[in-house]
Amino acid sequence: MTSPIKLGCIADDFTGATDLANNLVRSGMRVVQTIGVPSGPLNAEVDAVVVALKSRTIAPAEAIAQSLDALRWLQTQGAEQIYFKYCSTFDSTAQGNIGPVTEALMQALNTDFTIATPAFPDNGRTVFKGYLFVGDVLLNESGMQNHPLTPMTDANLVRVMQAQCTGKVGLIDHRAVAQGAAAVTQRIADLKAQGIRVAVVDAVSNDDLHRLGAALKDMPLVTAGSGVAIGLPANFGLKPTPQASVLPPASGLQAVVSGSCSQATNRQVAHFQSTGRPALAIDPLALARSTRQGDDVVEHALAWAAPHLASGPVLVYSTAEPDAVKAVQAQLGVEAAGALVEHTIAAIARGLVAHGVHQLVVAGGETSGACVQALGITQMQIGPQIDPGVPWCHAQTDLAPVHLTLKSGNFGTDDFFTKAFSQLA
Ligand code: ADP
Repeated sequence: MTSPIKLGCIADDFTGATDLANNLVRSGMRVVQTIGVPSGPLNAEVDAVVVALKSRTIAPAEAIAQSLDALRWLQTQGAEQIYFKYCSTFDSTAQGNIGPVTEALMQALNTDFTIATPAFPDNGRTVFKGYLFVGDVLLNESGMQNHPLTPMTDANLVRVMQAQCTGKVGLIDHRAVAQGAAAVTQRIADLKAQGIRVAVVDAVSNDDLHRLGAALKDMPLVTAGSGVAIGLPANFGLKPTPQASVLPPASGLQAVVSGSCSQATNRQVAHFQSTGRPALAIDPLALARSTRQGDDVVEHALAWAAPHLASGPVLVYSTAEPDAVKAVQAQLGVEAAGALVEHTIAAIARGLVAHGVHQLVVAGGETSGACVQALGITQMQIGPQIDPGVPWCHAQTDLAPVHLTLKSGNFGTDDFFTKAFSQLA
């Protein structure tokens, strides 16, 4: 029997789950991330569990069903507070799923109020007057307006969230957050009196998140990006410690697979190429032409990689600029192109691990989900941070134990694909 967990988290994609787990670890919690809802009780001694779903872009009813399933499992592990985690760029479609899942969790937890904020200042995500900034620009000018699956064309999160919710959405603006927990608590009481059920919260600094965290102590459900997590462990009496992030020593060959087309990933691919390390592009149209569901492309990639692996990391990528992605989507359809590429990158990742790659970088949220599933990973121990939002993890695959890192699209410095391995060494 393990001790009851303190915080139970539900994340709407795999890299997002890791990002959240990373912030909890940095704030002193020992964390395991599970891939989907475990079938049995937890077998690790940890303070928090992040259940990683792949529910960001699926039908709302299915996202709700999976999230409620995760909630029930977390409750049986003793979770005292529930955290619904979504992307720091509030990635969602016109149907949701942030709003519908939030309201379903509220109903299941019998609570009439929660917050919503993707603020993560360490990664340049700040919310002011309800508007989300990515670095120095508004969300809808950040490149996210061109995302293949969840184009974000409005930076006003009160408006975006209201369009996805049946209950009323309001704002806890920076005036309250800057004053501290008591002012936030008062603002929550005022909003509740107005019939508001969900409040977007401004936060532009870690100090804001710590002040907010203290005000969330007794809130049964918190919904947020990963940033809010830095203010929660203190509510459970925990302080930052390096012990929370210890992993076994790394060994084996090294590779990067990338199915992310985000701006940061495009820069990371270009940087990796500039180092002269071997890189192979996967052409989605060649996949579509394949008479063997892309198996020929997978075999070619693995044969290409084999002779290079002994001398350092290789990169296999479908990463492309927005115009090229649009052209592919116009020919194949958005979902079909996405699924085809994800399936292929995941099969390549599996093949690489079978060839002895035991240190693996995966770029792309959806892509990571596909890779983790293909590798039969059910649970990951969260280790030290490489860049904000991206830690090294350790997991048992059905082939071998691996160190892996799941990098969501816009995270990481330009040299991430080489830096990650030197940090692990
Ligand atoms: P990110 O974290 O950057 O959003 P994701 O992996 O979540 O990355 O999403 C990228 C989506 O784009 C995936 O479904 C992927 O299969 C798809 N994709 C990748 N490369 C291409 C390409 N060259 N053309 C069209 N779609 C692509």
